[in-house]
Amino acid sequence: MRYQDSKEYSAELLRLVLPQMSAQDAAFNPLSYAVWYEYVSGINPELTEAVDAIIDDKKVLADDDVQEVYQRFIAERDESMTEKLQAELRRVMDEILQQAQATAKQAEQYGNELAEHTDALQSGGFDEGKLSKVIDELINGAQGMRHSVTELQTTVEVQSQEVESLKRELQQAISEAMTDPLTGLKNRRAFDRVFSSMIEDSAGAKNGHALLMLDVDHFKKVNDTYGHVFGDKALRSIAHVLQTTVKGGDPVARFGGEEFAVLLPDTAVEGAKVVAEKIREAVENGRIRGTSKTEDVGKITISIGVAAYKQGDTPEGLIERADQALYQSKSNGRNRVTVAESTVPQAA
Ligand code: GH3
Ligand code: MG
Ligand code: MG
Repeated sequence: MRYQDSKEYSAELLRLVLPQMSAQDAAFNPLSYAVWYEYVSGINPELTEAVDAIIDDKKVLADDDVQEVYQRFIAERDESMTEKLQAELRRVMDEILQQAQATAKQAEQYGNELAEHTDALQSGGFDEGKLSKVIDELINGAQGMRHSVTELQTTVEVQSQEVESLKRELQQAISEAMTDPLTGLKNRRAFDRVFSSMIEDSAGAKNGHALLMLDVDHFKKVNDTYGHVFGDKALRSIAHVLQTTVKGGDPVARFGGEEFAVLLPDTAVEGAKVVAEKIREAVENGRIRGTSKTEDVGKITISIGVAAYKQGDTPEGLIERADQALYQSKSNGRNRVTVAESTVPQAA
């Protein structure tokens, strides 16, 4: 596990983190808390060095810096942990393989011995002394074989438990490195991977693919009016709307800050527009309670841009078109869906 500090020590760190965070220009979200927690606890010297350099240079750490530091020194370090776990898994597999090969070799030798003795027995003509020697050798061989098989069994049993626990750790590390900690949605890295592989095997998609880019309207004002804690709650709530409105399995990601992206594989642009409208409406009608029950929270709305994938598109090209459509939704008054004009991409 990444953080193994006791309750007392982590409370101590909390006391150290808070004044550090309030002196900065960044939001008090889980991401910046992770950055400052690692900073004050000193468990991540490279991160500490990078943060010090930014503060030396700019005096404060802003939201963008937090994002970047988190990505480079926490999320990517998790990836190297994934690699370490994979190496460990390979080591365990190698050990089993070696033991199995040794047993196989012994079985082969034993087989040869058996064949020799069988030949000798069949040809007959030897005395009682020789017969008893052959029987002794057969018994010894069988015992050696049994011992070797038992050893292999023990190795396999012990190592399979280790493999199981490594598999769980690996799964955990992979999913943490791919998940946005605030909303539980895919993060940008996971999104890029799914997106690339979707484009690579787009041959089977007869309807083509669509991309929705979404951005919360006037979110700065939401934060300023109701506070960041409420802002974070609103982001989680929007994430929930997205997940429950799109078909299970369609990738939904937090693209960064208050921007989200939804991929709609094998979906024509008309269908994508319907999904986008459904999302827009669900967010508009969603009720996000304020931090106190009596707080009257105004409507939170989102603007959406829709773009259809075209043969030869790069992920960047498609994102760019969806972003332009999103920008139009904003400039036309927000809380609306705009479909990108179909532009024929340049030949690569
Ligand atoms: P527009 O309608 O044009 O999109 O206006 P906006 O205010 O949403 O746009 P702007 O990009 O100026 O502001 C985005 C705000 O989102 C600023 C930042 O404080 C807030 N924000 C970004 N990430 C988070 C987060 O993780 N939590 C919270 N609470 N706020 C965030
Ligand atoms: Mg924005
Ligand atoms: Mg916004």
